[in-house]
Amino acid sequence: MYRKILIPIAVALLATGRAALADLDVVTTTTDLAAIAEAVGGDHVEAFSLTPGTRDPHYAEAKPSMIRRVHRADLFLAVGADLEIGWLPAVLRAGRNADVLPGATGFLDLSTAARLLDVPSGPVSRAMGDVHPRGNPHYWLDPENGRLMARAIAARLALLDPDGAQAYADGLAAFEAGLDRKLPDWRAALTPLRGRPVVAYHTSFRYLSVAFGFNIVDLVEPKPGIAPTASHLNGLVARIAAQDIGLLIVEPYYERRSSQFLSDKTGIRVAVVPQSVGAEEGIKTYFDLFDGVVAALGAREGP
Ligand SMILES: [Zn+2]
Repeated sequence: MYRKILIPIAVALLATGRAALADLDVVTTTTDLAAIAEAVGGDHVEAFSLTPGTRDPHYAEAKPSMIRRVHRADLFLAVGADLEIGWLPAVLRAGRNADVLPGATGFLDLSTAARLLDVPSGPVSRAMGDVHPRGNPHYWLDPENGRLMARAIAARLALLDPDGAQAYADGLAAFEAGLDRKLPDWRAALTPLRGRPVVAYHTSFRYLSVAFGFNIVDLVEPKPGIAPTASHLNGLVARIAAQDIGLLIVEPYYERRSSQFLSDKTGIRVAVVPQSVGAEEGIKTYFDLFDGVVAALGAREGP
């Protein structure tokens, strides 16, 4: 008797593959997307990022645990603009879940909602380095893009789960109100950087520089995604001295030797700046990320 009741329940659980109580199982390529989905979706959403915030999101390895998450997902969120082009197609293929493939309602590429910079005007070749034909994919580092991403996520959650529509609208309103409350503080804290020339390691901080008004005048990478060479670093030493550039910003996951070399030669201050939720302990929400950015840019110590 018990067996007859229990077996259908077990089968039903296996069929949905979900033990969680949340209404929607959301899988994302990066922690920032997961953090925004959770902020908007609250208890209705369980979000899981395939990559940790401590690693370079251009690269990831398709692990069986990732593929299982994709297989049972209701919604898949990607940064897009080719950020994950090296690994996402393989993970989606292996996940065998038609509901979350590009083109399905359960797949959302947030680059279609954000405002992208550095869209190349001519043809793109490998000789240009890791230049993305659809523009710079690190757009989540502009808080106004965070707002556009949250709006797109809320709309998609409501489409997939109409019963939760009011909750998603409320979650979005709270997110936007939080952003409006925090933005003036972040802007005020970064005022000393306004108009200042800065060297960055990679193109990740391009959106941050535009949002907060500083100028990235050169990169430690000679071309995006290409490791620094001795001749490029020596050229930078000369430029830093000639233009009196006082700040070098580097993502936590890049090597520090090159930055240390530049700092030793010129005295430039090196700031290790979190680029994503989870990049540092304590950065758990999208708002924490900018609090972390502000703290890192204001910090006086070197690497
Ligand atoms: Zn990049």
